[in-house]
Amino acid sequence: MSLTLYNTMQGRKELFEPLEPGRVTMYVCGPTVYNLAHIGNARPVVVFDTLFRLLQTHFDEVIYARNITDIEDKIIAAAKEGGRSIDSVTEEFTTKYREDMAQLNALAPTLEPHATDNIDAMIDLISALIEKRHAYESDGHVLFSVESMENYGKLSGRSLEDMQAGARVEVADYKRYPGDFVLWKPSDDADPGWRSPWGRGRPGWHLECSAMIRAHLGETIDIHGGGRDLIFPHHENEIAQSQCAYGGDYVRYWMHNAFLDMDGEKMSKSLGNVRTVRELLGHYRGEVLRFALLSAHYRSPLNFSGDLLDQAQATLDSLYSTLRAVQDTEMDREVPLADEPFYKALNDDLNTPVAIAKIHALAKQLHKAAETEKPGLKARLLAAGHLLGILEHDPTEWLQGATTSEAISAADIEVLIEERQQAKLAKDYTRADDIREELLMRGIVLEDSREGTRWKRKTD
Ligand code: AMP
Ligand code: ZN
Repeated sequence: MSLTLYNTMQGRKELFEPLEPGRVTMYVCGPTVYNLAHIGNARPVVVFDTLFRLLQTHFDEVIYARNITDIEDKIIAAAKEGGRSIDSVTEEFTTKYREDMAQLNALAPTLEPHATDNIDAMIDLISALIEKRHAYESDGHVLFSVESMENYGKLSGRSLEDMQAGARVEVADYKRYPGDFVLWKPSDDADPGWRSPWGRGRPGWHLECSAMIRAHLGETIDIHGGGRDLIFPHHENEIAQSQCAYGGDYVRYWMHNAFLDMDGEKMSKSLGNVRTVRELLGHYRGEVLRFALLSAHYRSPLNFSGDLLDQAQATLDSLYSTLRAVQDTEMDREVPLADEPFYKALNDDLNTPVAIAKIHALAKQLHKAAETEKPGLKARLLAAGHLLGILEHDPTEWLQGATTSEAISAADIEVLIEERQQAKLAKDYTRADDIREELLMRGIVLEDSREGTRWKRKTD
């Protein structure tokens, strides 16, 4: 089956073919590590993790790099404010980022380059730009001259005039043109800095991705992703740097996710409605957050709300209930994906809502299936789940798992179930009913069957 992806550069879906047959290179702009990731930041992570999983079904080798921005003015400010060293800030938030993203079932990327380990590559890139007259030194800064590039603005479809009118560019005395952007800036003694031909300083943010892509993945990569706010200026500037320094094609397919809004309001770090992934994980399991993030197509805005999460929780519970009912069913190992409707949906520009609808259809079939059909259907359902990074838990563990710390523990539930069993044997049905009632009040539903009593947590 062929894979089509929407390429922001072309403004349409295209057949995806890597530059080198069988080998894909993908780069996604990663976090600036000075605070906790919010749920909006998790959207590109979950989207591109799903793409990473899908690409692995097509190609032998998929190299996925996601950088860590560990030098940036916001980090310096956070360290100063907290009276801490830069290293302690970046180490703390890199670790927390990795932990949070792992909770969302996001696989570790193949490479995780840190900006501060790649300063030499950045200095080389600036030198090449100066030599080719695309960059100039001014007042301790090095700037990229946007007028020196013929088709600057191609990705975002903006002309230089539009950009100036948009006023998202910073005007400063040391710039020849307001749209010129910083490649290198001076550091004073108190700030982190590296020696360079232009004095002690530090790199501009846009430079980092261009230099690390070149150093770790090569001159041309297949896929470059991030949220759509990065199209301009970040990705536009990456293109300018890489193409002007090295010639050649920088990125073959540009992919951008739409934004996640919190109850109608655009989420950003400066708003009071920020919900960090860590905070949300105190209320919902990571897989619920992931499922909610995948419930909309990645190019559509997603309204994130408590209702959405509750719905995601209920849907996953019902899928896990279906799986628990076939827990003892042996299953076929290999699932040929080619004819699977969920696979077809994912190969159509990562259409996760359609894939999820196909998963529902499979679960329904499995629920009603004759014994002989169960192994095949169960394997198909799990294969679909694996591609989306869901249904990765043991069904019983999922259905019995506590989501909040004040919930009754599994051990205490088992004790009460045993006590109820003894009461029934002693024909003390009043006590048995009381126990059922008490558990129900604490959110535990009992299901009696010939094999014994099973339980699950209610999720409203
Ligand atoms: P930042 O830390 O702001 O550079 O963001 C890291 C990544 O998260 C980038 O790819 C952003 O485009 C993306 N991002 C930030 N906020 C949101 C949001 N509300 N919805 C979707 N993606 C976002
Ligand atoms: Zn980047």
